[in-house]
Amino acid sequence: MSSTRNPTLLHPPFSRALFPAAALLPLVALLPAPGLAKAEHEGFERFEFSLPRMGTMARIELYAADRARATTAAAAAFDRLEALEQILSDYREDSELTILSREGASAPHAVSPELFFVLDRSLYFSRLSGGAFDVTIGPVVQLWREARRAGKLPDSAALARAKAVVGYQNVVLDPTNRTVFLKRAGMKLDLGAIAKGYAADQALELLRSRGISSALVALGGELALGAPPPDKTGWRVVIGSADASRSAAPCTLVVHNVALSTSGDGEQFLDLNGKRYSHVINPASGAALQGRASTTVIAPDGTTADALATAISVLPVRDGIRLAESQRGVSALIVRKTERGWQHFTSRGFPRPCREMLN
Ligand code: FAD
Ligand code: MG
Repeated sequence: MSSTRNPTLLHPPFSRALFPAAALLPLVALLPAPGLAKAEHEGFERFEFSLPRMGTMARIELYAADRARATTAAAAAFDRLEALEQILSDYREDSELTILSREGASAPHAVSPELFFVLDRSLYFSRLSGGAFDVTIGPVVQLWREARRAGKLPDSAALARAKAVVGYQNVVLDPTNRTVFLKRAGMKLDLGAIAKGYAADQALELLRSRGISSALVALGGELALGAPPPDKTGWRVVIGSADASRSAAPCTLVVHNVALSTSGDGEQFLDLNGKRYSHVINPASGAALQGRASTTVIAPDGTTADALATAISVLPVRDGIRLAESQRGVSALIVRKTERGWQHFTSRGFPRPCREMLN
């Protein structure tokens, strides 16, 4: 039944949803949370839908009075994700983002409110992270994508040329005219590290606007959670340790109205000569992060969680923890494999059950 329009209804009961987060990433699973007194959503049923979006499987779980309402709302949310992909994708030749990269250096280029918002937030996170997060990384990312396909490292001279046009300072936003100007020819914008989080927020917002408040939107390693499921205290999220050798039981969070994002080398990487090269790049060097690592961020919204999970992945652990603790409602779990084995670092505010389990 799954066309790109009609969401596939995964029939309940689907008691345990394991999120195929990036492999190294702690498994984020959803389990029924503890109960509460009968909630006002008497008789609401659980529905679950999935469709491919943004290079991954988008999943929506929601509670509604009946199947017709659930399916109509989910279809509208998937349409919204498709519309956002047409704006924000750097894989599509005719997306608004790709056209901006092509034409934005000749003169200030008028853009949609969505693209302007995502670029405005991107520059905020670039400034906040000292450039560890940088959406002008596109030319370097292209070389590493080719490297993963070819199974060999990028040519160093090509990498140097690509890196020469990277720099978020060369993106000029004009909020009055809602235009974007790229100061360097050859710049290529890549929103892979923020746009899924933003899209999950937007899908959740659309469901809320249709009266569906208990909902969850998952896009790859991004999870946006709405109000708790009826008669539950929250969405039960299980965070296991990426270190498979650990015997410790995974830790369980019961959370709602937050977003979680995980970034790491679990799904997209190049293994070469005993080294692992991640798809996350250090903009300062143009080098892919090396070694096994993952970062999980909990934040008030998906845009923030997505961008900070990448930024913190690039920063040294101490700076990443400090960055997380500087942002209201944000906490982080950093997992790194070092010469001393797997190490887990949590920022203040990361939920206690996980801090104890992981440290
Ligand atoms: P994150 O850490 O959130 O993001 C890492 C990605 O961001 C990298 O893959 C790179 O693209 C970029 N990046 C790397 N380093 C940095 C940095 N320091 N600062 C900023 N950005 C950085 N994938 C497909 O295979 N096919 C598709 O058609 C496709 N379409 C997409 C359309 C949209 C609108 C989006 C948002 C993503 C799409 N993707 C697609 C996936 C995308 O290419 C990334 O692989 C994915 O977003 C990585 O997300 P993550 O959460 O795993 O990693
Ligand atoms: Mg991400």
